[in-house]
Amino acid sequence: MRVAVVGGGIAGLAHAYAAARRGFDVTLFERDERAQGASVRNFGLIWPIGQPAGQILQLALRSREIWLAMLDAAGLPYLATGSLHAAYRDDEEAVGREFAETGPGHGYDCRWLPAAEALIRSQALVADGLRGALWSATEITVDPRIVLARLPEFLAERYGVKLAYGHAVHVAAPPVVETARGKFEADRVIVCAGDDFETLFPQVFAAAGVVRSKLQMMRTPPQPNGWQLGPALAGGLTMRYYPSFELCSSLGALKRRVAEETPAFDQWGVHVMLSQTAAGEITIGDSHEYGRSVDVFDKPEIDELILGALRGFARLPLMQIARRWHGVYARHGSKLYLRERPAEGVDVVTVTRGVGMTLSFGLGEQTVAAWGGR
Ligand SMILES: Cc1cc2nc3c(=O)[nH]c(=O)nc-3n(C[C@H](O)[C@H](O)[C@H](O)COP(=O)(O)OP(=O)(O)OC[C@H]3O[C@@H](n4cnc5c(N)ncnc54)[C@H](O)[C@@H]3O)c2cc1C
Repeated sequence: MRVAVVGGGIAGLAHAYAAARRGFDVTLFERDERAQGASVRNFGLIWPIGQPAGQILQLALRSREIWLAMLDAAGLPYLATGSLHAAYRDDEEAVGREFAETGPGHGYDCRWLPAAEALIRSQALVADGLRGALWSATEITVDPRIVLARLPEFLAERYGVKLAYGHAVHVAAPPVVETARGKFEADRVIVCAGDDFETLFPQVFAAAGVVRSKLQMMRTPPQPNGWQLGPALAGGLTMRYYPSFELCSSLGALKRRVAEETPAFDQWGVHVMLSQTAAGEITIGDSHEYGRSVDVFDKPEIDELILGALRGFARLPLMQIARRWHGVYARHGSKLYLRERPAEGVDVVTVTRGVGMTLSFGLGEQTVAAWGGR
C-alpha cells in the first residue's frame, strides 16, 4: 500500500516511521526544504511526567519506548537523564510531595528528594532555599534540530521512505496527492500539518475550534568544559502548567499564590524549564500567548520574566543568551490531540498542546494500527 504523509515535523516523521515499519511504501511530503515548525523550535523533551494519568500517560510511555528504539537504531544522540521539579516555596513542596506519594500509584516513576539529594543529582540547582525536588526517571532530551535533520535520512536509508521536501501538498484525495511540483499517487494519506489550519481539510480545524499558541524561547552558548545539566529541570511554576499535577489537592493553593503574587506569570503563561542540546547549549523557556493569529514581535518583558524565574532556581556557568526565537503550535481548549478522518483514506493528526515530542511516536503507531491488516 502507498502511504503519503504530509508534514515533516515530528508528527509526520513519527507517522512515516510507523507506516514504514509496517512495510508500507511511504512518501513524506514537506513544503519547506527543511522542517521549520514547532518541532525544531522546542526543548526536545519527551515528558511523561507532565501527561495526565491514564491513557495519555500510557501513550507517552509507549511513545518513549519507540523513541528509544528509534534513536538507538538511527544512532542519534539523546540524554535519558530524567527530570527534577525544584521546590523553593511551601506550596511547591506540598505539590511535589503529594505527587510523589500519589503519582506512583498512577504509573509515574517518581519520588520526592530532600534538598541534599536533589543537589547531588543536579549541579545547576540553586542550593539557597531549596526544599527538595520531585525526581522522575522517565524524561528524555533529544536535540530537535538533529532529529529533524537526520531522522528523514534514516527513514530513507533503512525503510526506503521517499522524501519529497520542497513539496507543499494542496490536494490530498487518495489516490491523488497534488503539489505544485507534480501529482503523486497514494492509497492513504496522513496529514500532520502542525498549525497550518488553512490548507488541507480546514473544516476539521474550524469545527474543532483550534487556535495557535506562541512560545518565547532562549538558548545559552555551549556550556564550557563539557558541563552537564543532568536531569532536565523545571521550577515550581511548571507544576501549574502540566495536567498531571491536577491529581494533587494542594495544587489550588500554589495556583492562587502565583496569581496573587506574580500575576504576570499567568498573564503570559510563563513557567520555566531547561534542557541541554547535543552541543551543550541550554534551552530555556517558555511563555504562552493564544490566538488564531500570532504576534510577529517578541516581548522583551516576557524574556525577563522567564530569566527572573530561572535565576530563582538554576545557575549555569554561562548564563548569557545566545539565541532567542519563538515557536507556535496548535492548541485546543481541552484535547491534547485531534485525530479525524475527514475523507475516505485520509487521517488528519494534529497535536493540540505542547506535547508533540512526547506523544507523536505513540500516536503514529496507533494511527497505523487502526488501519487493520495490510
Ligand atoms: C517552543 C516550543 C517548545 C515545545 N517544547 C516541547 C517539548 O519539550 N516536548 C514536547 O513534547 N512538545 C513540545 N512542544 C510541542 C511540540 O513541538 C509540537 O507539539 C510538535 O512539534 C508538533 O509537531 P507537528 O509535526 O505536528 O508540527 P510542526 O513541527 O509544526 O510540523 C508541521 C510540518 O508540516 C508542514 N506542512 C504543513 N502543511 C503542509 C502542506 N500542505 N504540505 C506540505 N507540508 C506541510 C510544515 O511545513 C511543518 O514542517 C513545544 C512547542 C514549542 C513551539
